[in-house]
Amino acid sequence: MKPLEQISKKELDKIKMIVFDVDGVLVPRGTRIKQVGHTTTLETKVIKKRQIAQIKELHMKRFLINISSSRGLYMMQEMFREVLPFVSLTYECGSATWHKGKIYQHVNSFERLRSVFSKLEKAAEKNKNVKGFEPKEFIITIHCKRKDKRFEEIVNKEKGLCTHWNGEAYDVLIKKYQTKAVGLKHVMKIFKLKRENVMAIGDNYNDHELLQASGMPISADKSRIKGKFHIPLKGHFLPADILMQKILSLKRGGV
Ligand SMILES: [Mg+2]
Repeated sequence: MKPLEQISKKELDKIKMIVFDVDGVLVPRGTRIKQVGHTTTLETKVIKKRQIAQIKELHMKRFLINISSSRGLYMMQEMFREVLPFVSLTYECGSATWHKGKIYQHVNSFERLRSVFSKLEKAAEKNKNVKGFEPKEFIITIHCKRKDKRFEEIVNKEKGLCTHWNGEAYDVLIKKYQTKAVGLKHVMKIFKLKRENVMAIGDNYNDHELLQASGMPISADKSRIKGKFHIPLKGHFLPADILMQKILSLKRGGV
C-alpha cells in the first residue's frame, strides 16, 4: 500500500467514476438517534461547503461520483442536497441507487427480512441498551449503546442472514446479497463502466468488498482496510477531502 501522494496523473487516466463511503470519509463518523415509543429523532450531518465545491469541480472535470452508504435514501438526500445534480446515491448497503430522481432497485429483501423484524422488535422492547431502529427500506438497523448478543443470536438462527456491527449499530442483511460491492456492480452496469474505470474509497472493515470490486481501491484507514493507496490521517481534513484535493491538483496539471 503506497501513500496517496505517490499516485500519478497516468494512474487516473482510466478512472471515470469515484465511489465514496460516507461515514469517516465524506463526513465524520457517527449517527445520533433517539427513539421514545413511536417517536424517532435522528441527527443529520450535512456535507461541508468545501466538499460541495470539490464535488462540483470533479463533476466539471467529467468524473462520475457515486456515494455508497448503509444509510437510508431520505437521509442521504438530506446530507447531500447541495450536490444531488452531480452524484448518484447507493443506499442501504448496495440495495438500491438513486440518480437524478430515478431509483434503481438492486435487491428485494422483503420476504427474507419480514419474519426476523418482529423477533428483533420483541428483543428490543424494554432493552435499555437499545437506542432505536433507524428507518430503513431494505435492511434493518438497530442502534445500541454497545454490542448485544441477543440480536446476533436471533439473526444467526435465520439462514442466509447476517449482522454487521459498526460500533454504534447493527445492520441486519442478506449475506453476500446486500453489500456495497453488489451495489457497485449494478452501478457499473447503469453507467457502462468496467472495474478499471472505478476508484473507491472506504475506511472500515465492511468496505473491503466494495474496494476490491473497484480497480483503484483507496484506504482511508490502513489499520482496518487494504487499498492500492492509503490516505495518511492528517490534521482535520476528511479522507475524501484529501483524495479530492489530490485528484483535482493532478487534473489541473499539478504534481
Ligand atoms: Mg465508513
